[in-house]
Amino acid sequence: MRIACPYCGPRGLEEFLYHGDASVRRPEDGGAVPDQAWTDYVYLRENANGPHRELWYHHAGCHAWLVVTRDLRSHDILGVTAARDEA
Ligand SMILES: [Zn+2]
Repeated sequence: MRIACPYCGPRGLEEFLYHGDASVRRPEDGGAVPDQAWTDYVYLRENANGPHRELWYHHAGCHAWLVVTRDLRSHDILGVTAARDEA
């Protein structure tokens, strides 16, 4: 599998580290939210059967955080964007 880093171009998977689901958001104002919100954030994930947004880090390249949209059925990469552009 190759990931097209927006800064470095297409690179091998061994240059990247997977950091999980990019669709979950940490609860804001952590002390004020109910415990269930933290449980959902830490443990609950969608088991997508299709496109899924993932957070990757280009550790052997530009050190950028990337959001990779990947089809979990075929492993085809549908898109790659810089995580800072997603915020
Ligand atoms: Zn890169």
